[in-house]
Amino acid sequence: MTASGAEPTLFERIAAREIPARIVAETDRVIAFHDIAPKAPVHVIVTPKRGDYRDVVELASADPALLAELVDVANGIAADLADGDFRLIFNTGPGGGQTVFHVHAHVLAGGLEEASLAG
Ligand code: 5GP
Repeated sequence: MTASGAEPTLFERIAAREIPARIVAETDRVIAFHDIAPKAPVHVIVTPKRGDYRDVVELASADPALLAELVDVANGIAADLADGDFRLIFNTGPGGGQTVFHVHAHVLAGGLEEASLAG
């Protein structure tokens, strides 16, 4: 249980090391790990450690500095694991392809010609 009484989200459990993941970067408030089903040569999830915000709209409204930190971590990952260029995707809502309702960015990099989050 979290302080709010809600069940921890999948990504909170990864941040707590309860569920294994290939972690590539971490700050006090943010964690980044390889997606379990990569859609590009580099496909990393960047997310707050706490699941306070369901999607990027809530995050941007409530804590824009934390959103900026996600972007900064994404930029560092693209520099470390690819050539520095990247695509940053926030699926938002079920119709937008979101399946985990704990805000997160997909960082896609390293040869994106074939990359798609569809299917
Ligand atoms: P969404 O569909 O919500 O935008 O993105 C959720 C992402 O989380 C998907 O790309 C999915 O492959 C990834 N994912 C789901 N479960 C796990 C898991 O247990 N570990 C990791 N590393 N990624 C996961």
